[in-house]
Amino acid sequence: MKLATFTENHRRRIGLVDGDRICDLAAAAPTLPQSMIAFLRAGDAAMAEARDALASRPRWLDLARVRLEAPVPRPGKVLAIGLNYMDHIRETGRTPPEHQVWFAKQATCIVGPGAAVEIPAVSDKIDFEAELCLVIGRRCRNVPRARALEVVAGYMCGNDITVRDWQARSPTMMMGKGFDTHGPTGPWIVTRDEVPDPHALAISCTLNGEVMQNASTGEMRFDIPAQLEHLTAAFTLEPGDVIFTGTPAGVGNARTPPVRLKPGDRVAVEIERIGRLENHCIEGNRDTLIA
Ligand code: ZN
Repeated sequence: MKLATFTENHRRRIGLVDGDRICDLAAAAPTLPQSMIAFLRAGDAAMAEARDALASRPRWLDLARVRLEAPVPRPGKVLAIGLNYMDHIRETGRTPPEHQVWFAKQATCIVGPGAAVEIPAVSDKIDFEAELCLVIGRRCRNVPRARALEVVAGYMCGNDITVRDWQARSPTMMMGKGFDTHGPTGPWIVTRDEVPDPHALAISCTLNGEVMQNASTGEMRFDIPAQLEHLTAAFTLEPGDVIFTGTPAGVGNARTPPVRLKPGDRVAVEIERIGRLENHCIEGNRDTLIA
């Protein structure tokens, strides 16, 4: 199934995408939770009920007439691994790290397909990173390698937008990784049963139609089970948490001359079996906000 969060008639809810249409679960299965995190938390029973709704001649909406949002609009945690594809490590001039290198992106940086990515006033060194994202489906801790995929609800495309100069100023990388709008994800969650091998997917990033990154998720240095075993050795993962699994070679910062995102650019991440996540860049908001 393709699980999506969408807005229609000013009301945000979840649905199931099939081709160019979407099944409105709020109508087809009104007893199900209507937010993605609550739905994932409800586990296999909710998943089965959604599947049944599909079989019961549901009300379909034209996908073009709804607005797709980030599948998990406000995750509890957004975690990302750095330097996880060998060719990308080479292009950065670093030596392969002995241990997994993790950083957090802010939950407030998440946006969906078609959303604007802001080029902030404080930097013009903005970069793209195509990544396969995991969405956690089970509350879990100390997950062994052999059982790791059990905790994955599904997969989506992600773009780990990065402010390179702010990233480089601090070893935590945190400030350069969490600017508002710098976590595009989507366009939907493809459930785990539809992705037999998450390490055999073509992944690419195109900028204004030109291919910038083109690789296979099989090139990951620390694979998904290794990542989940490592993370849950330290802390609990919960339904709706989002994991960025690293980016392959071809990022703008490693090119000569460097390629930077600028207002007007269109950037798209595409992953085999998952879908295509396209966003456009605009000048960032400079207004003071004190709500
Ligand atoms: Zn990344």
